[in-house]
Amino acid sequence: MTVTNVAAYAAPAAKAPLERTTVPRRPVGEHDVLIDIKFAGICHSDIHQAREGWGEAIFPMVPGHEIAGVVSEIGSGVTKFKVGDKVGVGCFVDSCRTCEYCERGEEQFCVEGNTPTYNGVGRDGEATYGGYSTHVVVDENYTLRIPEGLALDEAAPLLCAGITLYSPLNRWQAGPGKKVAILGMGGLGHMGVKIAGALGAEVTVLSQSLRKKDDGLKLGATHYYATSDEKTFEELAGTFDLIVCTVSAPLPLDKYLSLLKVDGAFVNVGAPEEPNSLNMFSLISGNKALAGSMIGGIRETQEMLDFCARHGLGAEIELISAEQINEAYDRVVNSDVRYRFVIDTATI
Ligand code: NAP
Ligand code: ZN
Ligand code: ZN
Repeated sequence: MTVTNVAAYAAPAAKAPLERTTVPRRPVGEHDVLIDIKFAGICHSDIHQAREGWGEAIFPMVPGHEIAGVVSEIGSGVTKFKVGDKVGVGCFVDSCRTCEYCERGEEQFCVEGNTPTYNGVGRDGEATYGGYSTHVVVDENYTLRIPEGLALDEAAPLLCAGITLYSPLNRWQAGPGKKVAILGMGGLGHMGVKIAGALGAEVTVLSQSLRKKDDGLKLGATHYYATSDEKTFEELAGTFDLIVCTVSAPLPLDKYLSLLKVDGAFVNVGAPEEPNSLNMFSLISGNKALAGSMIGGIRETQEMLDFCARHGLGAEIELISAEQINEAYDRVVNSDVRYRFVIDTATI
């Protein structure tokens, strides 16, 4: 059992273009599965990290935490998967398994820290490398089953974008009778529109422009407004029970809080590189809540995949070759993605 080098695309240093390379993968352990990666989504978080927008990172970096593939080998103790199963891997690949959060299935909040799929160090002390690669070895307990009925390429983005919207929409009870706004119609946002619609909420998209209006309405929104138009804020004042913000840049929060009803909630999932400011009166006048949400645990991620399969909710994707990754990064930063880039790993 030896370490194997596999093909990958990596950023050799912060802000450097990604290029073809090889990275080591550990031998398949007793509880591991070897996954032939077929597709990997490009999340805006990959770009924040590869360009060190969130602070110091580990290089070389192989990003990718929206992984979909097929099991090609299993360890002797594996019980949940067999060779040939369609599987996915999301934002983390291990955690302590014993703390209060791990025990209740919220491994993303492990008190010892979860092991990120990339830009992290595993519990074996080795660097982790993500999904822009041909193969990965992952513990079966951190591997998700991709249900029949979901195409692998359209399922890949669910492993981050899907769960990141599914979790807060459920926690904040998006459903029939609720007016829900999705702020930002990118990778996360477009899944938010689909999932909130499938949950039965009345969905409004708040986007910088009306360029993507037709798509938003097709994906499940009933209303679509441009936030570049000041009239939007007059017209929609006091409208929403819930706003889920997916925007990757700082925003004038006070303006958006004015769109909530009394008792409404603004739930943020975007992770901008710079802080936001807030006038506390925007919250206290109206008993409003300002909350955050980070991905979801393994159990909830599986629940999300099953929900998406039942409702036929794959991501809207642009399939690209590995050579197009750098160009795709620039397009994501310019809000020019419809609506998730997915890498065909056969081109790595
Ligand atoms: P994305 O595809 O780039 O979507 C972000 C959208 O935000 C854009 O499509 C754009 O929508 C809007 N936007 C961008 N810049 C803006 C600006 N300056 N002002 C107003 N709106 C702007 O990115 P993503 O992959 O969905 O990720 C979104 C954010 O969530 C990133 O910061 C990412 O790191 C973070 N994230 C968080 C979690 C979590 O667990 N909380 C998980 C995954 C990602 P319009 O064109 O419609 O305006
Ligand atoms: Zn992500
Ligand atoms: Zn833990």
